[in-house]
Amino acid sequence: MTGTPTRVLVLNSGSSSVKYQLLDMSDGSRLAQGLVERIGEETSRLAHTPLHDGGGTRERLAPIPDHAAALEAVAEELAADGLGLDSPELAAIGHRVVHGGLRFTEPTVIDDEVIAEIERLVPVAPLHNPANLLGIRTAMSLRPDLPQVAVFDTAFHTTMPESAARYAIDVETADAHRIRRYGFHGTSHAYVSRETARLLGKEPEEVNVIVLHLGNGASASAVRGGRCVDTSMGLTPLEGLVMGTRSGDVDPAVTFHLKRVAGMSADEIDVLLNKRSGLVGLCGDNDMREIRRRVDEGDERAALAFDVYIHRLKKYIGAYYAVLGRVDAVAFTAGVGENAAPVREAAIAGLEELGLAVDAGLNAVRSGEARVISPEYARVAVAVVPTDEELEIARQTFALTAGGATEGATEGGSGGGSGGMSGNAPENTAEKVNA
Ligand code: ADP
Repeated sequence: MTGTPTRVLVLNSGSSSVKYQLLDMSDGSRLAQGLVERIGEETSRLAHTPLHDGGGTRERLAPIPDHAAALEAVAEELAADGLGLDSPELAAIGHRVVHGGLRFTEPTVIDDEVIAEIERLVPVAPLHNPANLLGIRTAMSLRPDLPQVAVFDTAFHTTMPESAARYAIDVETADAHRIRRYGFHGTSHAYVSRETARLLGKEPEEVNVIVLHLGNGASASAVRGGRCVDTSMGLTPLEGLVMGTRSGDVDPAVTFHLKRVAGMSADEIDVLLNKRSGLVGLCGDNDMREIRRRVDEGDERAALAFDVYIHRLKKYIGAYYAVLGRVDAVAFTAGVGENAAPVREAAIAGLEELGLAVDAGLNAVRSGEARVISPEYARVAVAVVPTDEELEIARQTFALTAGGATEGATEGGSGGGSGGMSGNAPENTAEKVNA
């Protein structure tokens, strides 16, 4: 690999935080990772961990006023490890972008036109896309010469058929305002569905998988032969499963009712459903560890929250079973899915008639590896498959830029996309992801 830059910096920029990882794509290893949080507040924090030499985490506690200052600080930390952003070994920067609408069905090299389109999508992703753009603009000003790639949370879901992507509302109104189901966490659903196939010793095209991404945000997807055919998040990440602070599915009339009866404004209802609902709204806690501890102590509110969470999860497993017709695996991933054995046990309990079961011993094992937790007799595999969105973003970024070109791993992708409202990606996204 001499002479060919192989490092990729992955940036996930939130409104007040930046998460980053530096990976070497010659072998997929991680060189450094870190997090800047509370940007713009008095007590900002940067935690940086070099991984290539076994050094410990270094922490900076000092005010970091904005994203530009945050990236400067990250660059300094990386430089101190000999991994500076000016290194000739840095091939590209990959950015997680939450909303790519219908236009971005694949990872895309960022130029002014791409930035303008991400900006045009701000009305459907008001919390996320502006923060992602801040990260992109800052990184571009730091290294204007370097390819920068946007990897969209929505891209994997652009293969959903119209029957799953359309809301049953007036078509003209929906189209005028780009209202449809887009889905999110796509990078994770793509990675986990593919890793699940690998775990079963199959090709992605051969298997149907229900992926349950259960983090603080949570979503389910139905993946047929490597292509997403349905997912639980919709126009925004509010729809679907019960989440840490989001309600997931509610009767839309709840919103008019709150306006008419409680006199709440649209913004207040937005905050209620996105920030004060879900597990936190039901019991005051959104951390599943704490909720389980309270349940074990006999706390009724925590038990109610757990039951509502599990009931919804089970409903989606059943729904996606019906959508797929045949299911080869149910894969649990993200913070709750990977760690909370009681959630996996309760979600699968009683589904033996569907060929689904969890082996208590296997379910109790703690491991960072992908693993099957169903008993041998079960017709459908239940698996725990740790997600790795950063590795997936780095792979896709590298495949699109210099490294990928040298390996012939992908074709084009810059600024392309289907446009219109067809919802059917012109190409097989899963094949791209495989690159
Ligand atoms: P996100 O990326 O959406 O912020 P994560 O995928 O990191 O979230 O998941 C975070 C959540 O995972 C926490 O809020 C907590 O509920 C859950 N979690 C993490 N570790 C455990 C654990 N050991 N047992 C149960 N739940 C856990």
